[in-house]
Amino acid sequence: KTVCVTGASGYIASWLVNLLLHRGYTVNATVRDLNDPKKVEHLRSLDGAKERLHLFPANLLEEGSFDAAVEGCEGVFHTASPFFNDAKDPEAELLDPALKGTLNVLNACAKIPSIKRVVLTSSMAAVAYNGKSRTPEVVVDETWFSDPNLCRESKAWYVLSKTMAEEAAWNFVKEKGIDMVTINPAMVIGPLLQPTLNTSAAAIANLFNGVKAYRNMTFGWVHVKDVAMAHILALEVPSAKGRYCLVESVAHYSDIVKVLKELYPNAALPEKCEDDKPFASVYQVSKEKTQSLGIDYIPLKTSLKETVESLKEKGFISI
Ligand code: NDP
Repeated sequence: KTVCVTGASGYIASWLVNLLLHRGYTVNATVRDLNDPKKVEHLRSLDGAKERLHLFPANLLEEGSFDAAVEGCEGVFHTASPFFNDAKDPEAELLDPALKGTLNVLNACAKIPSIKRVVLTSSMAAVAYNGKSRTPEVVVDETWFSDPNLCRESKAWYVLSKTMAEEAAWNFVKEKGIDMVTINPAMVIGPLLQPTLNTSAAAIANLFNGVKAYRNMTFGWVHVKDVAMAHILALEVPSAKGRYCLVESVAHYSDIVKVLKELYPNAALPEKCEDDKPFASVYQVSKEKTQSLGIDYIPLKTSLKETVESLKEKGFISI
């Protein structure tokens, strides 16, 4: 069986390609720049890559760019989307590639009758950013949608890019009759296969790099292998439908630092919060739907340990 993975060089996608190859799939993987060894070497060295990995150049901003890669596929995983927080020109750097890119990929899929399902990597960013109160009793679930107006007002450009891309995707597939499932992970951590540092792993790396205070923020956290496997199950399980939130634990940065201190007592971790305000509250995220897909979450402590070990091994931190 042949499937396509867009943005294959990325953190989540590299794990997805790895697991797909292990499962015997033939993978058409798109990469923005095939000539950059940092983007392709780790993929070429995966088990099964020689026999069953085919690389295609594709850019989210170029119309028709994904046509060749999706041809002959049964499933398409669209993961490519820019993820960073310091865009100077949010429209050009985040919104355009997320939105136009998603429509480009779906347009390519609409022309290929062999494609049975598209799995879109969305985000909890497209779920929970809607101004509703989040307290320990509140359970966020797949019926929540982020509010684009609120994103714009608070200049949460990455959050807006994911919210708009998912909304546009649902409108498109409804109109064209394409079967789509979305995976909506929170902060993804765990070992890195790629040689570069991605944004969510950097959130942990930064805590080891001499920062004085941790952020007053609470996020959901989930292991990258669970995220990759959820993508695969979303394609393989015929009854999979709609959106799947992926969160193992919801934790404030103070809790993350506490666990890291237990694991690495000698590390110079930040001792205080960036401000004196009350800590951003924790909340719950429903696990029901994703567990019904067959995901048995890796616990936060294991995820953190594996992240740190990988960051050390790749030279991003020293303890
Ligand atoms: P990475 O930054 O590692 O991967 C992003 C991928 O998108 C890269 O392969 C990148 O290619 C590609 N990309 C960006 N812009 C373009 C473009 N113009 N044309 C082609 N490809 C492009 O991040 P992640 O693996 O973390 O993110 C993957 C997906 O998961 C994204 O959709 C992200 O929004 C989503 N997500 C991530 C979470 C996380 O915590 N990590 C949480 C929730 C959702 P290149 O390497 O060439 O830049």
